[in-house]
Order: sequence, then structure tokens, then C-alpha cells
Amino acid sequence: MRSKIAIYPGSFDPPTYGHMNIVERGLGIFQKIIIAVARNTSKKSLFTPEERVELLRKLFKGRRDVEVDYFEGLLVGYALKKKSNVILRGLRTVADYEYELQMSFANKNLSPNIETIFMMTESRYSHISSTIIKEIAFFGGSVKNMVHPLVEKTIKAKLKERAK
Ligand code: ADP
Repeated sequence: MRSKIAIYPGSFDPPTYGHMNIVERGLGIFQKIIIAVARNTSKKSLFTPEERVELLRKLFKGRRDVEVDYFEGLLVGYALKKKSNVILRGLRTVADYEYELQMSFANKNLSPNIETIFMMTESRYSHISSTIIKEIAFFGGSVKNMVHPLVEKTIKAKLKERAK
């Protein structure tokens, strides 16, 4: 099966310009990208999966080549369900590489027909991570250059609500 659809999975808590750049560049290769928000992440989150999906749908509103969805359980199972054999992931650091290598081996073992494709970050986005954004925002710093204005606004509102 040759896939025209790639699954771009992640936590996206929150979505960043780094994520958006991977989607845009991925569309230079694939006809459609399905952004799949993990429901079963062990990471401590700022936004619920529903809020993250809503944010991503707003960011890619009007784009017929981008779908935003949830996934639960095994990613390879989700990819098969969506009739895709490509998992798209971004790479920033050596730490990303170590983790991604293990994940791709695990997925390959589970489902040999599914390929994980890695896209290197663009240097201007290499420092952007959702975890760092959450820390900066929590301590009142500006995340303006790292996320879309809508995301920035939503983070501010969330932190305000939490501080109550
Ligand atoms: P996960 O919790 O599964 O790592 P993330 O939401 O942190 O999910 O990231 C989803 C994917 O996007 C991962 O492949 C990650 O390496 C990639 N990514 C995150 N930030 C960037 C960035 N600034 N540039 C390129 N890729 C990125």
C-alpha cells in the first residue's frame, strides 16, 4: 500500500509553530495529514485532549488536506484504521532522536508495513517545545514567538482560570 496520507501523532499540549511547520512541510510530500492527538499520554497536561483538538482545528480551519482527530491505544492500530502506512514525526535534538528511535522500532515490530518518517526541525523552530512554553507561560513570560496568537490567548485564559 502506498500512502498518500500521513499520521502526525503527538500530545500538542499546546500546539506550537514547530508543530505547524512540520504539518506545512509534510504537505509538500503527502496529500493529507491527519494530526492525531494522543488521549492516553502519561505527560502532565495543561489542556484536555478535547481543548487541544479544538485549538488545532481552529489553526487549520478551511484546510481540506489537514484533519484533526484523537487516537487512543496503539498508534499503529490507529494508522491502519485510517488506511495510512506513514507516521510523521519531527526531530529537534539528540534527546528526541533517542526516544523516536525506540518508538519507531517498537512500532515497526508491531506493524512492519508502517514506516516512521522523520522531518528535521527548521532551525528557527528548533528551540520550541510545548514543555518549555508551558513553563515560560506559567512564570508570566511571553511565548509570542513560539505559538500562534490564538494559542497564546488560550494559554493565558487557561492559566488565569487555574489561578482562581
Ligand atoms: P509527543 O508527546 O508525542 O512527543 P509532542 O506534541 O511533544 O508529542 O510532539 C509531536 C511531534 O512533533 C514529535 O515528533 C516532536 O518531536 C515534534 N515536534 C515538537 N516540537 C517541534 C519543533 N519545534 N520542531 C519540529 N518538530 C517538533
